[in-house]
Amino acid sequence: MAIKKPRIIVVGGGLGGLWATMRIAEAGNKVDLFSLFPVKRSHSACAQGGINACMDTKGQHDSIWQHTVDTIKGGAYLGHQPPIKSMCEDAPGLMRTYDRMGVTWSRTPEGVMDLRLFGGVKNKRTCFAGATTGQQLLYACDEQVRAHEARGLVEKFEWWEFLSIVKDASGRCRGIVAMDLRSMETRVFRADAVVLATGGLGLVFGKSTNSTNSTGAAASRVYQQGAKFVNGEFIQFHPTGMPGDDKNRLMSEAARGEGGRFWVPRKKGDPRPPETIPEEDRWHFLEEWYPAYGNTVPRDVAARAIYKVVYEQGMGLENDLVYLDLSHKDPDFLRRRLGGILEIYEKFAGGDPTKIPMKIYPAVHYSMGGLWVDWELDTATGAMKQPSPRNHQCSIPGLFACGECDGAYHGANRLGANSLLSASYSGRVCGESVAAYIKGLADSCEDVPEGPFSDEKKRQDDLNRQLLANRDGENPFLLHKQMGDLMREKVGIVRTNKGLDEALEGLKEIKERARNISLDDSGSWSNQPLAHARGVQDMIVLAEVIAKSARMRDECRGSHWKPEFVLDIPEGKFPGDPEFEEYRAKWKRNNEEWLKTTVAEHQPDGPRISYEPVDTSVLPADQPRDYR
Ligand SMILES: Cc1cc2nc3c(=O)[nH]c(=O)nc-3n(C[C@H](O)[C@H](O)[C@H](O)COP(=O)(O)OP(=O)(O)OC[C@H]3O[C@@H](n4cnc5c(N)ncnc54)[C@H](O)[C@@H]3O)c2cc1C
Repeated sequence: MAIKKPRIIVVGGGLGGLWATMRIAEAGNKVDLFSLFPVKRSHSACAQGGINACMDTKGQHDSIWQHTVDTIKGGAYLGHQPPIKSMCEDAPGLMRTYDRMGVTWSRTPEGVMDLRLFGGVKNKRTCFAGATTGQQLLYACDEQVRAHEARGLVEKFEWWEFLSIVKDASGRCRGIVAMDLRSMETRVFRADAVVLATGGLGLVFGKSTNSTNSTGAAASRVYQQGAKFVNGEFIQFHPTGMPGDDKNRLMSEAARGEGGRFWVPRKKGDPRPPETIPEEDRWHFLEEWYPAYGNTVPRDVAARAIYKVVYEQGMGLENDLVYLDLSHKDPDFLRRRLGGILEIYEKFAGGDPTKIPMKIYPAVHYSMGGLWVDWELDTATGAMKQPSPRNHQCSIPGLFACGECDGAYHGANRLGANSLLSASYSGRVCGESVAAYIKGLADSCEDVPEGPFSDEKKRQDDLNRQLLANRDGENPFLLHKQMGDLMREKVGIVRTNKGLDEALEGLKEIKERARNISLDDSGSWSNQPLAHARGVQDMIVLAEVIAKSARMRDECRGSHWKPEFVLDIPEGKFPGDPEFEEYRAKWKRNNEEWLKTTVAEHQPDGPRISYEPVDTSVLPADQPRDYR
């Protein structure tokens, strides 16, 4: 029999969390929605360029199948394929739903949804709202959730930080402990299911394009409580970052989708201002190396090409940058289509990108890996069965994950504009799964005895007390900086086993020092250093997962690149040529060994790594990725 008055917790109010909330509330269930700050400020609001769906308004004969193939190959075959197939199939319907919610899509003069090109694809497939797409989508979802709030189905806990889950005697998730970020008091919240939609982990690398709260701490906390974490080694470096002293910012992939060209002067150290360098003296390296895709190769390919130009060939500009040039395009066109991001460049880097080339370098941007989540196969369609209580459930029963904090859809490399899609889609699916899960639940969280809740609250209070009482210890801000520097240097775009061993050694030392953190502020009101210190301790644990997973994967796949294991496509050779076929055979042999999901499980002395097979039932891994 179904339990009476179920109560669900959703942690995170970005696109993933809001979609989950909507679906759970639509099924008539009450939701407690937690966020570090007002949900409308969630990091999803920063997304710029757009969201992928096969709308085919450009008459290019785009197809859902092609979206599926591009996503699977873009991720170097490492993503389970049935969920990817479902996501791509459901994407056009999602766009129509957003349309009905009032999203102000950019449109052609005829009123048709406009589309732009993004990386790793040949067709225009990216729906957009100027260059502030994420904000428009988030605000539309926020309005829907507010309607449920007005109906009494949603209660928001903004300025609350999730600290841990509470498990009952059987190991099932039955609630959370959260901290009020004003009073710093902890409190227990019971729940029949908990959804984590807490976003990315860019801050593990110190500087990234992510918001300053994208720490991954929430995912780390449930990982430390027994949830599995997959494919940690796959970290996306966005090719068009804007390096900054405080943080790195992003020049959206939309810039190259709308015609932006990468180049450096052909003459090393050419002192001329870029706008005066004639075309024949400019080296458009991506157009030369990858003529089929040119400037819109996938992000992993573009980031490595820039690395090669700068560090292997020494052809970078001052400060190891390269140009991303839009100045050949009509300024009115640029303002209309990319206004939001041009303003960001003008404000933080200086200079008008409609007149002079921008200077960019790859920056940490996205984690393809994340919490392990289950899914159920629909044997009739070969896609994911929906709804199913298994979908998006973590390895801890009753705990679900969606959005960037899950590791489900992007394999070894995410295609641009596929993340707003996966966040929205996974949130929707997750919400439906939770509604199905609680229907089958035999007993309510209210029936669970008090013990596990008070024990967990005490554990969290003890952690806070210890941090507040410690004196003359380590500075958490400095530790965070040192960890970030170490991760960017040793676990970067190009990795070596020697460097990864050094990273693991360095992390061990930082982890030890982090046990002795002390704070300048021991106050009990809005103590930000306390929250940050806890985040740093948890980020170090994830850093270890990332570095160890990378150390153990001896191959090159997507964003994970170790030069000592490169399998190069023979130059000038294509399918059918014996040399290419020899390469293909080697590539397949490598897949036999390495086409598998990395699974990390927490142990007191560091992560334990094992592997799981990848479901390749939709598109067999026969075609190597080749963007030439
Ligand atoms: C600059 C930038 C531009 C981007 N542009 C695009 C784009 O054009 N297209 C695209 O597809 N993708 C883009 N992305 C990626 C995309 O924006 C994100 O992957 C996606 O929005 C993540 O959504 P989410 O719901 O998972 O998390 P988020 O939107 O990050 O939300 C996380 C939520 O979790 C809450 N939270 C976190 N930790 C806790 C805690 N401990 N306790 C309580 N609450 C917590 C936060 O308060 C927040 O509400 C971009 C990313 C960046 C950095």
